Amino acid sequence: MLGLSIPAMAKSVSKKSESSSLVKHNPIIVCSRGEKWGKKVLKPGWSILKKNGSLLDAVERSANVTELDPEDGSVGFGGLPNENCVVQLDASIMYGPTHNCGSVAAIEGIKTPSSVARLVMERTDHIHIVGKGAQNFAKAHGFKVENLLTERSRKSWLRWKENLSDKDDWFPPTDGNYDSERSTGTINVLAIDSAGDIAGITTTSGMAWKIPGRIGDSPIIGAGLYLDNEVGAVGATGRGEEILRTCGSFFVVEQMRAGKSPQEACEALCERIIYINGGRDKVNFNDKIIAVNKNGDVGCASILGGKGREPKLAYWSNKGFKVLKGTYIIEN
Ligand code: ASP
Repeated sequence: MLGLSIPAMAKSVSKKSESSSLVKHNPIIVCSRGEKWGKKVLKPGWSILKKNGSLLDAVERSANVTELDPEDGSVGFGGLPNENCVVQLDASIMYGPTHNCGSVAAIEGIKTPSSVARLVMERTDHIHIVGKGAQNFAKAHGFKVENLLTERSRKSWLRWKENLSDKDDWFPPTDGNYDSERSTGTINVLAIDSAGDIAGITTTSGMAWKIPGRIGDSPIIGAGLYLDNEVGAVGATGRGEEILRTCGSFFVVEQMRAGKSPQEACEALCERIIYINGGRDKVNFNDKIIAVNKNGDVGCASILGGKGREPKLAYWSNKGFKVLKGTYIIEN
């Protein structure tokens, strides 16, 4: 029984840092999108935060916007499927005051995996639940199992399949109008409330056409999402394997703890990924990192980019809705 009681105790730590309870902070909510999605995503979260509502409700409601919108092909309902044309979703959540977290991975049929991740955090003694187990857990909490494949994502999958090889029996369409890039997406939502407490979510359908069962950085605490209530929060999108093998979000939080600004810390991770891959001319994938520190300063950087294709981050605070154009390391 002792073995069981240790993680239970670890999960219920609720001591707040002194700064959270004494200092008044300016609330802010941030997401890894630009103008188009930023406002839509942040609106419900900001309307909760500005009224001093629940920090976790704020990040969850905002993350749910993209999860429920079939127009977004990289998250939740309408997310691009795996190589078998099955949508498998990953999501994680973290809460600063308790340093607690929850996540689900390769979950099928549930439109809002970030809400399931929150229940893993709040209603279990675990952090990570995958696959069928995650779906069963969601069902037990009343979530409906639904078809997450839209006509649009099915057609994208079909185009990919048909263009995969000229040695199999799947023929490409004659119009030849096909974007062969493996698309990425994901959304990170990070927020700080007026008590200075921090929370965050990362949610995704993962890399399009992935091998069934593959999970990326998004559901892994310290990779696609990490935060520390005394420092700030970080989320990553893009090629998850690189974020995983650098413990990306953890790395960026620790860089901020050591004194870097959010912008410098995001750039430091991009440089680190480039370095471990053998230098600038060896990198043909993208990752994008966003960060916010305890003071409400924000940063955003990507590995690849160009003029007019800078990585963006949107945020909403008492000063209104804003979009930050971040930096990129390699012009492509
Ligand atoms: N990071 C996600 C993953 O690797 C994909 C993405 O951000 O598009 O699963």
